[in-house]
Amino acid sequence: MVCIPKQGGGLLESRWQVIVGLVLMILFEFFNWLMGGALDKFTFFVMPLVLLAVVYFLVTGELARFERRFSGILRNHLREERFVNDANRLRVEMIAAVRKADKFIMTTGGRARDEEYLSAIEKKVLAPGDLEYWRVILGDHIHHGLHIHLAKLYNYNNVHIRWHKEEILGNILVTEDQVILPLASPTPGAFKSALILPSIQIVQNYKEFVLKVFGEAEELSLQDLGALCIECRAEKERKSSNVRVDL
Ligand SMILES: [Zn+2]
Repeated sequence: MVCIPKQGGGLLESRWQVIVGLVLMILFEFFNWLMGGALDKFTFFVMPLVLLAVVYFLVTGELARFERRFSGILRNHLREERFVNDANRLRVEMIAAVRKADKFIMTTGGRARDEEYLSAIEKKVLAPGDLEYWRVILGDHIHHGLHIHLAKLYNYNNVHIRWHKEEILGNILVTEDQVILPLASPTPGAFKSALILPSIQIVQNYKEFVLKVFGEAEELSLQDLGALCIECRAEKERKSSNVRVDL
């Protein structure tokens, strides 16, 4: 009986069992012939065994090839890229990607209004482990939600924040097993559709890309962070104009 092994090791083991079985049978017939058995009888028994061995190895070789091809197809289909065209679905996907990350979270752009997403990042950064958080702020302003989030994490060694004054790159989220690319929307800041790419090669490409952008971006202090925040800037201007009126 030919059994289909679950993995390569199983196939190898069952092959060795068959080889040992066939060799023992051939030896048995050989000794039988030495003890005075007829040569015809020896070849009569041994030839079918040799043929059986050849057929066995052909079949198991084919099965092993089929198994490898089948696993490849399954792997590719389980990890295919997806297109999301719903704001809530996109939020859920981004939060899930962050919660699943263990090695790194790299991101450009904001999503300052999404508290759950930012707090999911905070939990990951503050949890025990080796996760690194890379963030490149893009453009000439951020919103207060992102300001508070970054100020909270600013002093942690596993947090790397820089600022790139040009807002040309768009939003990118990269974790060790997927890339999420929110697509441009006619309404500023209202991302609704995105491409989700769970390919290790694409992850590697975007990881290198974000690190390159990070390298070109400027370091910034906590004060710089506050100066980029439009709500804090407006509040500061309101206070200073009140002081001028009082004078
Ligand atoms: Zn602020």
